[in-house]
Amino acid sequence: MVRVGHGFDIHRIRPGRALILGGVHIPWERGLAGHSDADVLLHAVTDAVLGALCLGDIGQWFPDTDPSYRGAASTDLLRRVLADPRVAPWELVNLDATVIAEQPKLALHIPAIRSSIAGLFGVPGERVSVKAKTAEGTDAIGRQAAMAAHAVLLLESRV
Ligand code: MG
Repeated sequence: MVRVGHGFDIHRIRPGRALILGGVHIPWERGLAGHSDADVLLHAVTDAVLGALCLGDIGQWFPDTDPSYRGAASTDLLRRVLADPRVAPWELVNLDATVIAEQPKLALHIPAIRSSIAGLFGVPGERVSVKAKTAEGTDAIGRQAAMAAHAVLLLESRV
């Protein structure tokens, strides 16, 4: 039994915030606005897991109206999803994600991001693909007002 899931997320760029992508701190003079640590990539990944299993979305699991999730590490949110008894029986076959960001250049950070995400799922790094694109100067992402991420993944039942 296999299930496919898709996730998308977008966050505004803000000065004075850290930039965390896939659980990795990326040195930059700006970051992403959000109630949690605003890890746009892990939010898309988490939504892909939830989508694959028809379990709603990250906003339903961790409402931004709940003060206990203020500043939450998105790695912890994904760990909580993966530990849920409805999710734990599923293993990640592969994940393919794209971050859309005009700046900063992410190529040097891709290996660390892949291994961070693979570690969260407990699978080898070669099952996780992360790509970075710019918006070629178009739209809000191109104006460096926002950053977005897409993720698609395949889960296979362990039982
Ligand atoms: Mg988000």
